[in-house]
Amino acid sequence: MDIKTLLDNLHDEVSCSVCMCPFTDPKQLPCLHSFCLHCLNRIQRTSGVHGKITCPECRRQFQISGSGNPSELPTNFRINSLLDVLAIKECSAVNVKCRNCDKRSAKTLYCFQCCSFWCEECIVAHNIMRENKDHRTLALKDFQDQDIKAVLERPAFCQKKHHENKELEFFCKDCKVAICNTCAVTLHEGHGKMPLQEATDERKTQINSMIRSLKDKVRKKQKEVEQFNQKSIAFQSKVAEVKSQVQSCVDQIIAIIEARKQDV
Ligand SMILES: [Zn+2]
Ligand SMILES: [Zn+2]
Ligand SMILES: [Zn+2]
Ligand SMILES: [Zn+2]
Ligand SMILES: [Zn+2]
Ligand SMILES: [Zn+2]
Repeated sequence: MDIKTLLDNLHDEVSCSVCMCPFTDPKQLPCLHSFCLHCLNRIQRTSGVHGKITCPECRRQFQISGSGNPSELPTNFRINSLLDVLAIKECSAVNVKCRNCDKRSAKTLYCFQCCSFWCEECIVAHNIMRENKDHRTLALKDFQDQDIKAVLERPAFCQKKHHENKELEFFCKDCKVAICNTCAVTLHEGHGKMPLQEATDERKTQINSMIRSLKDKVRKKQKEVEQFNQKSIAFQSKVAEVKSQVQSCVDQIIAIIEARKQDV
């Protein structure tokens, strides 16, 4: 999807199909369907099954690791980026919240390194800090297409507490999750790991070959259906042929009988 189509369909892309509202804390299920955390919590509460969740879209059931709570599911960073893009696009109509003081203002700025919004007052404190000296910030009203692209392409961060600024860099093959480098040397020490990009490429290749083989199967089935249809047509014409043969045979017999009757 190019950036223009994406921006035109932004509202659809960021709407949760359960509550029909823009996502809040979007979580992704293994089937790749995403929902708000509060929606998944409600679904789990009403189902009364702890540690499992049924996808409201495709009805598949999944086990949730760890505490069994939907909050353990991976965050959909793509949707979070889209939500920020929506906020940037609509900043003139809806004030955007500062990540530090929660104040909503029309003059909010975005920091491309913190990947978050700052109000006019908090950005002063942000800029004073030595570790932020290379951060690029931009007023929301000044955003151009390439800046929006930068927001869409920003990295994903670790979900673990106090790892909020840690980029996901590795994939743990044992736990099948993306992890930051701190997690790599603590929680996942001794586990099989590979760079996230490599794992992504591998997965992409797998998915593509799966799609190819499914397409092949569909093609084969279509061919079978076609052959079956042809056979059925041939069979029907055969039936018609036999029917007319029988009919002419009966007609002949009747004619013979009629002739005999006349003779008698
Ligand atoms: Zn929802
Ligand atoms: Zn699903
Ligand atoms: Zn603020
Ligand atoms: Zn920053
Ligand atoms: Zn981490
Ligand atoms: Zn692990």
